[in-house]
Order: sequence, then structure tokens, then C-alpha cells
Amino acid sequence: MVYNCVVLIKQVPDTKRITGKAMNDDGTVNRSALPAIFNPEDLNALELALQIKDKFGGKITVITMGLPAAGAILRDSLFRSADDAILITDQRCAASDTLATSYILSCAVRKIGDFDIVLCGRQAIDGDTAQVGPQLAEKLGIPQITYVEELIELNGKTITARRNIGAGWQQVRTKLPALLTVTADANESRVAAAKKMMKYKNARTPIEVEQKIKAENAEAAEADIQKLVKHKCEELKEKGLLIKQWDLDFVGADLDWCGRSGSPTKVHRIQSVVLAAKESKNVEPNDQGISDMIHELIEDKIIA
Ligand code: FAD
Repeated sequence: MVYNCVVLIKQVPDTKRITGKAMNDDGTVNRSALPAIFNPEDLNALELALQIKDKFGGKITVITMGLPAAGAILRDSLFRSADDAILITDQRCAASDTLATSYILSCAVRKIGDFDIVLCGRQAIDGDTAQVGPQLAEKLGIPQITYVEELIELNGKTITARRNIGAGWQQVRTKLPALLTVTADANESRVAAAKKMMKYKNARTPIEVEQKIKAENAEAAEADIQKLVKHKCEELKEKGLLIKQWDLDFVGADLDWCGRSGSPTKVHRIQSVVLAAKESKNVEPNDQGISDMIHELIEDKIIA
């Protein structure tokens, strides 16, 4: 039996390589100081899908919802041997919280239809909620195994995986279709394949094509720009290099559940927390030193 996998991937700011002031004065993220990367655990989710495909066969479709720049991680997925890539981009997605995001993603996964396993990263390094995977499974009405650190077995329509539960692990078996959220411990993601890079380096979404043509023809009339865009997209499609781009109408989303109207989360206050080392203390590397330190922490009510 072959398994068709859908992998949800997100482009995130690289919080480890900050090249300037990370926060603006108004408390919003200064995205220009943070290079955009493939969310790390989404690479583990993609790798798990690739391992399933290597062993059993099937098709891997990656989906991202984001800005036009997210086309970069779709290309990266194609370089790593994903079969199909879809960008969901639509101004009406703006201000979506995790509930609206997972609703829109569920519409896209339903649109694909023919899937056995949906894979997400455990958590995105920017939003950090780890809510989208579980919410997506709920909305699709399929079982979920979260915090997957090892795929134990795929046998017909049954999947068994080991999940991390903090102080230990749990082995869980469920029926397919199912959704997994994958941790960094599950695998080491493979590097891009040189042949695929050569094949897909010019793959573009329609919105990327439009942005480039607009930048190169700043003075041109809108109608002429659209003609050029149409022509270039047809050319790319013939070569198998046009990345799919879907909007909310195409995935059949109810607009009341998207963007601001579909987002019950309200942000009351944003606080920038800067951790600074105030004082340090040397602890003698022996039992007495450690015992003294523990007593001090208990007295200061830092630990109980
Ligand atoms: P997690 O739940 O930690 O992600 C888990 C996994 O889900 C990921 O590893 C990935 O596999 C999958 N996943 C998550 N997000 C996506 C995605 N977009 N595409 C594909 N797969 C995904 N963000 C904006 O970009 N623009 C906004 O205008 C905006 N407005 C917001 C307004 C509010 C009130 C709130 C609360 C959030 C807003 N966000 C906005 C952030 C947005 O809601 C989150 O980025 C998004 O819901 C994902 O949540 P997370 O980052 O915690 O992902």
C-alpha cells in the first residue's frame, strides 16, 4: 500500500540569527532584522513523509499559508523531493489566529482530498503555540498523534508511533487517515538534492511572477503587466515549474471563519522581555556546594 502525505510547513523569522533590533518600538516584530527560514520542526515533518515515501511510495504535497515570500520554503521542499507544493496567500487571511489558521489549512487539505497522513511540525518557533496541528486534526475529524519522535509501523490502514510525553514515552496506534505532529528528535532532515535544485530553481508562484514583472516594468500599465504575468505563468506551467497558489475562494473557506472575524484571540498587551545576567555565583563542584545552592534557592522561593 502506498501512502499519500500532506505536510504543513511555515516560514518563520530566524530567532537565532538576529541582524539588528528584533523588536520595533511599538512592540511588533522587526521582520527585516530576522531572516526568514523553514520552521525547523516542519523539516522533520517533511523528512518523515520522505521516509514513508521512500519505503512505501505515494505522493507528498506541501502546503504553506503565508506571504508571497513563503514561496522560498515551497521551492526548498521541492529541492528535498516533495512532489507538489501549494501556497495559500490571500489578504483576507491577515490577522488570523491559530483557530482561523487551522480552519483555512483544513479547507486546503480537504481540497486535496486524497490523503492518508497529514504531518505538521510540533511547534512553530515564532508563534510557539503548538496549537495548529491538533486544531487541524479536530477540524478534519481525524485522529492525531502529537509529539511524535519515532514512526514505529505502518501496516495497511493502521499507524503506530512513539510520542514524547516529557518524562517518558507512549506508543500509540490509530487508524488512517491521521495527523502527526513531529518533534526535532524524530530524524535528521536530508539536504536538498542537487538534481532537484537544478530542476526546480526557477519554479515560481504566480504572485512571485507578478512581483518580479512589476519590479522590472515600473512604468507599465496594469493591463500590460497582467498580460506579461499570464504569458510567463503559462510558460512556467508548460515546464512544470508553476507552483500552485490558492486563495480562500478556491479552498471554499467561509470568510466568517478566516482572518479577524474568525479569530477569537485578542492581544491586550505586548511586552518586550529582555533577559540580562545580573549576577553570577560560583558553586563549588562538590556535594556541599550543590547542597548549599539548593538550600539558597529554596530560601529564595525559586524552587520548592
Ligand atoms: P504552531 O501551532 O506552533 O505550529 C505548529 C505547526 O502547524 C507548524 O510546525 C506547521 O506544521 C503548522 N503550521 C502553523 N502555521 C502554519 C501556516 N501558516 N502554514 C502552514 N502550516 C502551518 N500571523 C500572520 O502571519 N499575520 C497576521 O496578521 C497574524 N495575526 C494574528 C493575530 C492574532 C490575534 C494572533 C493571536 C496571531 C496572529 N498571527 C498572524 C499569528 C498566526 O496566528 C500564527 O502564526 C499561526 O496561527 C500559527 O500559530 P503558531 O505559529 O503558534 O504555530
